[in-house]
Amino acid sequence: MLTLLVGASLSFAADTPAPDATSADLADFKSFVASLWPKAEAKGVSRATFTRAFANLAPDLRILAKPKQQPEHEQPIWDYLNQIVSEKRVTLGQKAYAGNLAGMQAIEKVYGVPPNIVVAVWGVESMYGSNMGQYSVVRSLATLAWRGGRRARFGEQQLLSALRILEHGDVAPDLMTGSWAGAMGHTQFIPTTYEAYAVDFDRDGRRDIWGSATDGVASAAHLLQANGWKAGQPWGFEVQLPAKFDFSQAGLSTRKPFAAWARAGLRHANGKALESNDTKASLLLPAGANGPALLVTGNFRALLRYNNSVSYGLAVAWLAQKLVDAPFIDKPWPVTERTLVLDERKELQRLLAARGLTVRAQDGLLGTETIAALRSYQQSKGLPPDGFPSLKVLEALRQDEHT
Ligand code: CA
Repeated sequence: MLTLLVGASLSFAADTPAPDATSADLADFKSFVASLWPKAEAKGVSRATFTRAFANLAPDLRILAKPKQQPEHEQPIWDYLNQIVSEKRVTLGQKAYAGNLAGMQAIEKVYGVPPNIVVAVWGVESMYGSNMGQYSVVRSLATLAWRGGRRARFGEQQLLSALRILEHGDVAPDLMTGSWAGAMGHTQFIPTTYEAYAVDFDRDGRRDIWGSATDGVASAAHLLQANGWKAGQPWGFEVQLPAKFDFSQAGLSTRKPFAAWARAGLRHANGKALESNDTKASLLLPAGANGPALLVTGNFRALLRYNNSVSYGLAVAWLAQKLVDAPFIDKPWPVTERTLVLDERKELQRLLAARGLTVRAQDGLLGTETIAALRSYQQSKGLPPDGFPSLKVLEALRQDEHT
């Protein structure tokens, strides 16, 4: 059984009205909640569970004030990694790893996910159970469903799922706490993820990801296994690229066997030849052609099912490496490059579109379409088509606009 090592305590979220909830707000919230009953009933929730969950519940207006816009400054990946893989998280992680190894090995036997990986997920998600969130999940999600704008649909879907969890009896309503957006317990599952993957690993009859670190961590291992984690395979590793390399091969959209990457001239970071087998992998250049290069397997993709961001996956991977004193990335990050601010990201999209490239949303969110357009542009200029939105490439686009 895993034990909590870092003074976590489940405390009750304060279910009192926020000071600025007017009586009109309260009445409106109450009738909104009443309107949810047929949907809850259709999902198998009993009247008793429904009534108990919403008894004396007022909306939590703090939740509606949470940031909705993307930040002005996108944090460079190296800053993000240093922030997540902090000294505190590494030190506590080493203790959690050493102190719970037998329990983690039991989890590995069932799900095939090694102890250092599950401890790293635990650490990134909730600082090993010490930061699980103090919001009442039902209250938060009901508030989002009520007036959460573009988050309302998510709020309602997760709220109905939360009610089903209560119906099942795994947790009492007042102990069902989490983040303001409904991420719950040791490994911060939202309700639908909980319904899909939570397990009762300690066999006390309840899937208790709040009170039992064992259940929480095993549930995360179950999620990873169900999303393709393969026992005995690495998540990935740093590689060296050959002097001449086709950068259009980089990115998660390209998957090739190790053998094909070996033929393309990739080697391990220490110069060793790549394994010549059929394990499928993708090449990641998280900071563009001038930064580190990593080859990642389906296990890395499984981590992204937890949170779909390469930065997140690499943070978990780095922490996991640290827990077993294994290397991560040797090549320095291009720390002198600054990332584009919001207006510059929008400008980049506008300039790419002005060249006839397909960039429909000029919102500063650099998605797949923008990256593909950026690569076409880089290719047309004889630049390495790494799809990395550097200041240099923005400057090249600006110059081209006037020629
Ligand atoms: Ca249990």
